[in-house]
Amino acid sequence: VDRLELEGVCVADITRDEIFSRLRDALDRRTQLSLGFCNANMLLKALCTPSYAAALRGFLLVSDGLGIDLCSALFRGRFFRQNLNGTDLIPAFLAAETAPRTLFLLGAKPGIAEAAARNLTLLYPQHRVVGVRHGYFAAAETAEVVAAINAASPDILLVALGNPGQETFIAEQAHRLDARVLMGVGALLDYAAG
Ligand code: UDP
Repeated sequence: VDRLELEGVCVADITRDEIFSRLRDALDRRTQLSLGFCNANMLLKALCTPSYAAALRGFLLVSDGLGIDLCSALFRGRFFRQNLNGTDLIPAFLAAETAPRTLFLLGAKPGIAEAAARNLTLLYPQHRVVGVRHGYFAAAETAEVVAAINAASPDILLVALGNPGQETFIAEQAHRLDARVLMGVGALLDYAAG
């Protein structure tokens, strides 16, 4: 089987091109895809926290970094075919994607998502950022955050709340969100903000 499976957490052994095609399928066929980048730290958190492992079950998880690659070698007898990470893969997808897509950026400290939106728009002018929201909100504000995302009607939602916050948010809210692609992106917004 083309995946690393530990305690119910499945990390797909998939190439960058295969991920791009899964993303395009979701965007074009209007089905929903939750994508997560699983590094060793995230895997460890999931193995120690059954509720996090359960939240990850609805994700396409891909391998991110040396730690999880070593884990694959130990438990599966082989390395992943490609080493992927969100900070490289998401900009590469946005660059390769010629069809115009709309994005919502959720997460990071106040001001960061706005700066990231400006830079992403300059770098990938075919796409449009239709909304931003910082990632320091109370649980009681979640419904309002979800409503603001749906009001902006993005194709793609990037969620930068760290682990486990970003994957938990996606898992709990996916059925209320209209976006077709939901991605946990870690520190991407901080990088994109410059
Ligand atoms: N973050 C957030 N809200 C939180 C915690 C983190 O918006 O409650 C953001 C943080 O500002 C950063 C991103 O999530 O932009 C990744 O955070 P961090 O590096 O702490 O998480 P890790 O990638 O280590 O899981």
